[in-house]
Amino acid sequence: MIEKGGRARAGEPAVVRTRAELAAALEAAPRPLGLVPTMGWLHAGHRSLVARARTECATVAVSIFVNPRQFGSQADLAKYPRSEARDLAICAEEGVDLVWAPGVDDVYPAGFDTTVRVGAVARPLEGAARPGHFEGVATVVAVLFGAVRPDRAYFGMKDAQQLRVIARMATDLSLTTVVPCPTVREPDGLAMSSRNVHLSLAERAAAPVLHRALAAGRARWEAGERDAEAIRDAVRAVLAGEPLARVEYVSLADDATLAELDRVEGPALLSLAVRFGSTRLIDNLALG
Ligand code: AMP
Repeated sequence: MIEKGGRARAGEPAVVRTRAELAAALEAAPRPLGLVPTMGWLHAGHRSLVARARTECATVAVSIFVNPRQFGSQADLAKYPRSEARDLAICAEEGVDLVWAPGVDDVYPAGFDTTVRVGAVARPLEGAARPGHFEGVATVVAVLFGAVRPDRAYFGMKDAQQLRVIARMATDLSLTTVVPCPTVREPDGLAMSSRNVHLSLAERAAAPVLHRALAAGRARWEAGERDAEAIRDAVRAVLAGEPLARVEYVSLADDATLAELDRVEGPALLSLAVRFGSTRLIDNLALG
């Protein structure tokens, strides 16, 4: 709960659902206010975003909303893991002040008819592999920013292209300050993700190959290799050693534009998407 004129009390966050409840809670919330947008099934990655927000903001708000518009298939949406009770317990542990857990109709009321489409940075990689995905992401995040009006919003580098798409939108439309936060990994290197819960035991045992492959690519770059395809090949060679990994793409792109590189002369992003059975995982490492 939010104490009048002060910081949140340790304990339960205020939980609101409708836009009216949200607006009322925001009126009492000390500024600056930091927003951590999530789709729930919270893990240590989300916790790290909240912890960062705590250090910079008087009020920390978390939104929990599984956004139908960013899923390509109904099956993928239906199987997305959900547990509000578990998420609220984690928010309480992390000292979150306010949780906005809206229903689909609270986010997209009758008559809602706007789509936000970010340009070039949204087109390659995930944008190409998942048509409509970033329109769904940008649209829901624009709704969240409009309803919450955060001073700062916290996003993980794990979803590197999403971070760039949201930052582009936030800058172009003067919405808020986007704060990038480092990827949190399991001890074996696997990036934390709500989707990891879908991995079978064998797939889970195989999945750290993603980080090993990216690290092999980075090691080539650290050793002085500047030919981008040689670095991609080093990543692919490690992935090829794992029979359960079905590679969708390996990318070495300009860090800002995400255009594929021939030579690595400046900051670059090494990223990949790989399927293990029906679970699609993404990961990345920055070069420079
Ligand atoms: P999601 O609930 O998967 O939509 O993620 C919500 C936010 O948490 C996004 O900004 C993600 O980039 C971020 N996030 C997800 N996984 C991690 C991770 N392993 N480390 C850091 N941030 C993460």
